[in-house]
Amino acid sequence: MANVSLKHIYKVYPNGTKAVNDFNMEIEDKEFIVFVGPSGCGKSTTLRMIAGLEDISAGELKVGDTVVNDVEPKDRDIAMVFQNYALYPHMNVYENIAFGLRLRKLSKDEIHNKVVEAADILGITEYLGKKPKEMSGGQRQRVALGRAIVREPKVMLLDEPLSNLDAKLRTQMRAEIAKLHKKLGTTFIYVTHDQVEAMTMGTRIVVMKDGFVQQIDTPKNLYSYPANKFVAGFIGTPQMSFFEGTLKKHDESVTIKFDFSDSEITVPYSMLYKAKPAILDGKTKVYIGFRAEDVSIAEGEQEKGAVVNVVVSHREELGSETLIYGDLCGGSESAVNSKIIIKDSGGYDIKSGDIIKVALDIDKIHLFDKETEQSVLPRIPEYNYLDCQVKNGKLKFHGIECEMPSAIKCADVDGELLLPVNAIVFGGKLKADVKTCEQFNGINLLMLSLNGKRLFAVSSEKIEESTVNVGIDFKKITVVADSKTVIEPIPETNSFDCSFVKRKSVRSIEENGKTQNKKAVEFGFMAEGVFFGASDESAQKIFSALGVKNAFASQYRMECSIYDIEVSDSGIPAEVNSILDYGECKFLKCTVGKNTVYVKSDKEYGGKIFLSPNMDKIGISEKERDIKLI
Ligand code: ADP
Repeated sequence: MANVSLKHIYKVYPNGTKAVNDFNMEIEDKEFIVFVGPSGCGKSTTLRMIAGLEDISAGELKVGDTVVNDVEPKDRDIAMVFQNYALYPHMNVYENIAFGLRLRKLSKDEIHNKVVEAADILGITEYLGKKPKEMSGGQRQRVALGRAIVREPKVMLLDEPLSNLDAKLRTQMRAEIAKLHKKLGTTFIYVTHDQVEAMTMGTRIVVMKDGFVQQIDTPKNLYSYPANKFVAGFIGTPQMSFFEGTLKKHDESVTIKFDFSDSEITVPYSMLYKAKPAILDGKTKVYIGFRAEDVSIAEGEQEKGAVVNVVVSHREELGSETLIYGDLCGGSESAVNSKIIIKDSGGYDIKSGDIIKVALDIDKIHLFDKETEQSVLPRIPEYNYLDCQVKNGKLKFHGIECEMPSAIKCADVDGELLLPVNAIVFGGKLKADVKTCEQFNGINLLMLSLNGKRLFAVSSEKIEESTVNVGIDFKKITVVADSKTVIEPIPETNSFDCSFVKRKSVRSIEENGKTQNKKAVEFGFMAEGVFFGASDESAQKIFSALGVKNAFASQYRMECSIYDIEVSDSGIPAEVNSILDYGECKFLKCTVGKNTVYVKSDKEYGGKIFLSPNMDKIGISEKERDIKLI
């Protein structure tokens, strides 16, 4: 039993295929995790890296508290079940299950007990004497599971184990595997391309596409809150219907207009509080998504705003329900984005060519930015977008006025304030009412009312009070006026180009009471002509990701937080341009070559200084393949 931690995991095959990109996940002990996505998305590669069957190009993989990147598969305490069972044809079921235990030199009695117990759990006791060829696919897969169970692994990996079975058996085995997971109390990681399988089995699901993780969430959240159009389309059958359209805000409502059709619906503006105001301009294109189960044939008097006319093209009877396929009226046959699927319980005498009134459940609407395909309604919005005024060094918004720190120099303007939700700090001078507090994956999203106006903020703690004192972290704000950014946040990280080098050094070693100087080799990073020693662990990560030759030939990017670099006697030469005083802390704005670098500093330096990043806190990426190594 163990948790599994994947940090910045990459896989680049020797032919250059980047199969897995920056995979990050903390899998808890006893979870049932499913990796799902279309063929070629990188799910098997990820699983094989966990099993140790595939080298990890970069990143850190832990099982329990142990880093296992370089641990042999047999020593990882992991068992794997494959699609093709991989049973020995000349051995009977008993021998197949016992085989691995014999290799591990367990006593005869121990082996017998384990085989009998596993056979009992899997209901294959009566087949123990049979050869694999005498058994059905489902029974063979049970034997393969049995072979994995007797190893009592910390983690069980299953790679499309049910793909070779027919539909009925697959459903039955799904339930059995879920039961087995409960019984064993082991961490399961399961790969499938079948979203139904993923939804029915996983406690959490990882949706992947083209080597990138798209979303990690519970089945319910993936279904109700898909983060992007791909996840929305991949999860759920029949597939979500997507329409192109626009959103236009009025005072307290938003009109959703469908392109390729004369249809439009109206929803209350409160549904779109989290959306970026710019997307509600009536011009920016969005995808409007509805699941078939959230669309029904309108009966009698419906809410006027949510009814559209549909021309029926055909219908599919599924017994308990009917799927009606059609096009929004005014849509042309060729317009893909006017197709709609309606799930109904049947009983309606509807034929192709009929024009019907269809009610859309507006609470279940999904909206995606057409350009980025990301949800327009993220569960936690990034920014509050507010009208503002800068006057005499004061920032006015929501009818309140805040003194800006001296670090911010800005002429008087009327503009838009982009106030990140994490730039609202607690304990400031402003009083706000807490309207709602919702929790998503451990983060609390608060909807505050400041001077009667809405403001989103986040907090790691649940806020129970009805009023809170808040302030603004001015380092994070942006103000845009006449399409120009007039106030910029300070970047959180500095970045330097660097190379990986070795240099000769001399180490003093004490031996028998005498000090001896011994020649040694030291590895490090050369940034702006300055050498910074790398820890053995960092050097090892570079070598294992790139090999000895490429390690020295490659170009890297060193990143360090503005809080993890300091002024020192030697280091990267920099010139201080200005001192930014934000009240609670000060930053030096420096020039290094052509770049600007920020450094948190309590002292006010001027002129030429030297900077040293904290080497225990830096990040290193290989530039060419854009891989985070440290
Ligand atoms: P999935 O399991 O999601 O179908 P895989 O993990 O098998 O996908 O593959 C991910 C990508 O890596 C695909 O583009 C595939 O072609 C590529 N790939 C897999 N194995 C190799 C290999 N040994 N050499 C080169 N490319 C590979």
